[in-house]
Amino acid sequence: MAFKLLQNELDKWAASSRVAEFWWRDDDAQKPSVQLDQLLAISDKHNVSLALATIPDGVQAGLVECLGGRDQVYVLQHGFSHQNFAPETERKMELGWHRSGTQIKTQIAAGFADLQTLFGEQFVPAMVPPWNRIDSRVVANLNAAGLKGLSTLGPRKQVFPVDGVKQINVHVDIINWKQGRRFAGAEACEIQIASHLSAKRERQADPQEPTGIMSHHLVHDAACWDFLDEVFEFLNAQKNVQILDVSSIFTP
Ligand SMILES: [Zn+2]
Repeated sequence: MAFKLLQNELDKWAASSRVAEFWWRDDDAQKPSVQLDQLLAISDKHNVSLALATIPDGVQAGLVECLGGRDQVYVLQHGFSHQNFAPETERKMELGWHRSGTQIKTQIAAGFADLQTLFGEQFVPAMVPPWNRIDSRVVANLNAAGLKGLSTLGPRKQVFPVDGVKQINVHVDIINWKQGRRFAGAEACEIQIASHLSAKRERQADPQEPTGIMSHHLVHDAACWDFLDEVFEFLNAQKNVQILDVSSIFTP
């Protein structure tokens, strides 16, 4: 992949001596798998930090072993059970306001405690709501549960949607969900990346928000794996690109 469009955009950043920041988030981890090994191999090969949005309910101890000793892989909280509570007529949501506030808070707290106990220092206390959707009333309760970060999809509107919770979203979805959960295509992905960069450059999006690449290791086809491999190779070769370490991005 030549990444011409992206190169062209990054050249504009270079012309004004700006560094384009990125980060990588992969969703739906719960247990070891061949696909997870493949994901970790990409993180290793390109020396790229990985945020693994992990579903607390049913998380397997084997995942702890699998991630142990990896100092650039971090676990984020992916809801509680990745269950949909929205009615069929609405878009899927676990962290909407379809249950009582107490039920939601109790589950978030239980999931938080489990991940913290299991992963210790590797757990970064940030919430990645399943389907990237969360009701503002749930956001208002995150900090009380110990969460200091929030990550959904699309350019953030505020750095701190509520006091004590820093938002850093993803902006690139490499999967085409509507057409058979396959790779979205190199061109479509490149356009997503370049569009967020140009929006930041032109201050139509928060220029301080790192551009987030989202992947879903369990549903990757070969083209998804190739793209991740190639895009990190490309980004690492750029002088004015920095792929951030996940450990500190949600620190205020
Ligand atoms: Zn998910």
